[in-house]
Amino acid sequence: MINQRTILKPVSMTGIGLHSGAKVQVAFRPAPADTGIVYTRTDLNPNVTMKCTADNVKDTQLCTALVNEAGVRISTVEHLTAALSSLGIDNLYVDVNAPEIPVMDGSAQPFLYLFASVGIQELSVPKKFIRVVRKVRVENEGKWAELTPSESGFNLDLQIDFNHPAMDRDKQHYAMTFTGEAFARDVSRARTFCFMRDVEFMHAHNLALGGSLENAVVLDDNRVINPEGLRYEDEFVKHKLLDAIGDLYMDGHSILANFKAYKTGHDLNNRLLRALLSDSSNYEIIQFADTQKTKSNAINFLDAKKTLTAF
Ligand SMILES: [Zn+2]
Repeated sequence: MINQRTILKPVSMTGIGLHSGAKVQVAFRPAPADTGIVYTRTDLNPNVTMKCTADNVKDTQLCTALVNEAGVRISTVEHLTAALSSLGIDNLYVDVNAPEIPVMDGSAQPFLYLFASVGIQELSVPKKFIRVVRKVRVENEGKWAELTPSESGFNLDLQIDFNHPAMDRDKQHYAMTFTGEAFARDVSRARTFCFMRDVEFMHAHNLALGGSLENAVVLDDNRVINPEGLRYEDEFVKHKLLDAIGDLYMDGHSILANFKAYKTGHDLNNRLLRALLSDSSNYEIIQFADTQKTKSNAINFLDAKKTLTAF
């Protein structure tokens, strides 16, 4: 049996907002079973609360945002979501005093550190997994992403295709069997990346005012300009994988499937999740009392203790 999880006690962090460049505070509080991941904008009067679901995800030029019916948004949720996915946290209150979650270092690692510092609380209600039973595929202009049924948990296989002198051809593919531990060790530190020409464009349009070499890998026409270089040889594809893991967790449920994608991004990942959820014959909701339904290795899939010591 795998149960639902939250954090053991409240904790908060402060960082820079990617869009505004201003200081942002975000507080995390434990939530009861079946709450989901619930965000509150505490800077608005009255406060605005919205649940993280696939339907209110909006891809923007810079990040993934949650947007409710009234147009209130909370941006830059994707790396936090990836960290939650790797810890199996499915219930949490997230209170933020700005329209965005702090970007931190552009990876998922600061969130893992934070949750490691407070610990994980197991709740007494079984966790619900989405098990894919039928192939779902989305495509757009030569890019594609698909989910197919898996007998062994959550497997990911992602290919990017950049023609750039600093991006080796043989470092643009990555495949992994997802466990919280493998994510923390091999993927969580991969930072977002962008090109100098994009940075110049964004700053000229007053966008990404908080973006810097502190929270992104930046490439000019020939090389990585961050003085510290890369954290992994294949940091670029690993960051795309990190994004996909976050994007596929926007509904707050771990997916049991094979995920395979070519040149995918937030938009396509979200379309894939929506396509999956749009037809209930694509999937079934299972709990791990139901282990006879799958030969999955998912019992070890979300070992929070291993995840929290792997990075
Ligand atoms: Zn990202």
